Amino acid sequence: MKKSIELAYFEIMSQRYELTGENQRHLEKMQSGYQGEVQFEKIVSEVLPNKMLLLTDLAFEMRYGETQIDALLISNNAIRMFEVKNLLSQYQYHDGVWTTNGWKLSRDYFTQMKRAGEILEALLDEMGIRTEVETKLVFIQEEDTVQISDSRTEGLYLKRWQIKKYFKELEKETYGAKWRPEEVAVKLMKRASRRKFPKVRPVDVDKTQIYRGIVCCGCGGHKIDVGTERYHVVCRSCGYRESKEKAVLRTLCDLAILDYDQPLTRRTLNYYQDTKGIHNTIRHVLKKYFKVHSRGRTADYINPMKRMEDAFDDLKFRFRDIP
Ligand SMILES: [Zn+2]
Repeated sequence: MKKSIELAYFEIMSQRYELTGENQRHLEKMQSGYQGEVQFEKIVSEVLPNKMLLLTDLAFEMRYGETQIDALLISNNAIRMFEVKNLLSQYQYHDGVWTTNGWKLSRDYFTQMKRAGEILEALLDEMGIRTEVETKLVFIQEEDTVQISDSRTEGLYLKRWQIKKYFKELEKETYGAKWRPEEVAVKLMKRASRRKFPKVRPVDVDKTQIYRGIVCCGCGGHKIDVGTERYHVVCRSCGYRESKEKAVLRTLCDLAILDYDQPLTRRTLNYYQDTKGIHNTIRHVLKKYFKVHSRGRTADYINPMKRMEDAFDDLKFRFRDIP
């Protein structure tokens, strides 16, 4: 499962700048949300009935804003929507109100989910698919942290331990087919938006203080020697030696996300001016891994807007890392 562009942005930032307060909390919230979705997808993949499709992490641009969907299950006669919550502290739901640690939440997850289901129904209707969408909240955390005492919510949520059973029950359904799941999936994917920039970014950041060099992939440190060795950069803190090609590719991907509104050029990584150590590598990596957008005095390249591991499958580098 790919990380959202916001999560990637915050993660890259946190490796290069000290995020505190609100920014740090937002990063942690997105990370636990992402972990929850990964776990849900993993559990479901073990029990997903034949002929059903699970689509994850979809966003749709609507007239009044954007709607996001964690997971959609498409069978040949029904569409079900799942909103995954990874709630790590204790939550209670009673009389339509969520509380955590004595605090009242201003939002109601059940209402939000119902609304999201209605939006999806309208969207499907536009595509000529008339159906009621069943929605469920999924409480994915390992510990049973959520207490719900409200009979009106029955059938509206699944706890982690109920997921497998729920999907196995679905397999027994034998209603007539209304459509081919693949066709519905293709229609939805075509309509889905792939956001090109992070809408939410850390607030109050002093841009001049953002570290723009290579982050050690061993210890996360910033003291990197790019000049001494020919094929590796060396971390002066932990001694990790990373292939120059990989270090440069990884860093260019990350800096390109931070500079999403700037052209991606060899100047994007111009932190190490004192050595010739990686200038050729930067040139080589841009040529090899990125597509040219336009050529001028300095060529600029198409920004993949993905971290290295999401942007490239099956990477092999000529020189190995030496931890
Ligand atoms: Zn290190």
